[in-house]
Amino acid sequence: MKLRNRIHIYSTFLTLVILIILTAVIYFSFSSLTYSTEVEELESVSDALLRTYNSSQVSDPNEVLRGYVPVLGMITVRDSDRNVLELIQKPEITEQLPERLDGRSGTVVVEGERFAYTHSPIIWSDGTVAEMQIAKSLREVSGNMDTLRLVLAIAVLIAMIPVIVSGAVLARIVTGPVTALTDTMRNIQKSGKFEKLPISEQSNDEINQMGMTFNEMMALLEVNYLKQEEFVSNASHELKTPLTIIGSYAKLLERRGLEDQAVAKESIAAIRTETDRMTSMIEQFLLIARRNETSPVYQEVELGDFLSGTVAAFNQAYSRDFLLEVENGPLTVSTDPVKLKQLLYIILDNARKYSSDRIEVIAKFDGTAIIQIRDYGEGIPKESLPYIFDRFYRVDKARNRETGGFGLGLALANQLADIMKLKLEVESIEKLGTTVSIVFSSDFNVPPLELNQEGSR
Ligand code: ATP
Ligand code: MG
Repeated sequence: MKLRNRIHIYSTFLTLVILIILTAVIYFSFSSLTYSTEVEELESVSDALLRTYNSSQVSDPNEVLRGYVPVLGMITVRDSDRNVLELIQKPEITEQLPERLDGRSGTVVVEGERFAYTHSPIIWSDGTVAEMQIAKSLREVSGNMDTLRLVLAIAVLIAMIPVIVSGAVLARIVTGPVTALTDTMRNIQKSGKFEKLPISEQSNDEINQMGMTFNEMMALLEVNYLKQEEFVSNASHELKTPLTIIGSYAKLLERRGLEDQAVAKESIAAIRTETDRMTSMIEQFLLIARRNETSPVYQEVELGDFLSGTVAAFNQAYSRDFLLEVENGPLTVSTDPVKLKQLLYIILDNARKYSSDRIEVIAKFDGTAIIQIRDYGEGIPKESLPYIFDRFYRVDKARNRETGGFGLGLALANQLADIMKLKLEVESIEKLGTTVSIVFSSDFNVPPLELNQEGSR
């Protein structure tokens, strides 16, 4: 069953039950009150009759009784053997009440008609004690009760009309946005586009919040999708250039390579360079694509030792001045050494490529552990700073083709930093140099050894 119908049926049914209970309570309390008033009235008639009967010098008791017979009523006097001594009935009353009735007074239904009755002892004219029963038909009251029942039933039915209408409206209000959401999702599925739900600015109800969450999710998916699309198109674009170069050199080899050794050498060298470039680019692609598979493996690492190895390797490979300085060491952090090394290589490689002076690597503790890589090179223009972590972004594309960059290094560094919960901060002044800071989250700082000598470490 649809949610809308379910809400409609449940709300209507629930209101109907409440109305029925309410009217039943009203009806039964009113009828019992009315019947008990009638009984009380009859009791006072009986008392008045007995007072008159006892006070006057009654010659004919029948006379007194007749004076007190209620409209639509009767008076029966019985002796102790239940024989009727006197029976006075109004002409409209033909029913006989049972001989024995509960209590002094009450109501009883005889042949479908309700009667109020009272019993009182009376000293009969022969001096014996008899029982006097006064009864009164409640057919008029019952008629009124029937009318009341009918009125209440009609009132319930009339009240149900707005309930049914409002139930339908309520169901529509609740399910409308859900239906719209489902329709939009279906459209998205069909068209493959990232559509958003129309949302009213004023309302802040749950449905609206759901719509807003859906829109935010759609926006996020769209951004990710566009990034992915951009990545694929950039990647294919980047691969096109080396492939074009390889293709053209292959053609040159085909035409003149066999005769001209110099041409052959140049072509082979160019083809090698471009294939190497492509290989390293594809390696970077793979690293970026594997992002979600690689969860960090944490170890305690002393930054001084760790960095001196890395810095020495760079000194060796590039014959450049890489200087290491460890302030207020020893500094131990909990981190993934393999990934941290990968991250350092990316940043050191940039420092090396975009500067020719010395490069400083500083490890320090400033509320938390920090590694800084500082170069005195060309720097990054202010307007480019927000983009350097984007894939394929290069400040100067022509310059970077010479230095062999793809614009993927920092994008990968950013991913690695995310995985290891590190923060990367870049400060740069054009023509003066760049400082990249790797800031460890304070949760990953390991307390210095001397503070914890008899402790667990
Ligand atoms: P790749 O690292 O993929 O080989 P890349 O070095 O060009 O290529 P990134 O490492 O992502 O790419 O850097 C992006 C851009 O930021 C670089 O092209 C460069 O212009 C600029 N950049 C990064 N580090 C520095 C730095 N230390 N000094 C000057 N510019 C830098
Ligand atoms: Mg780089």
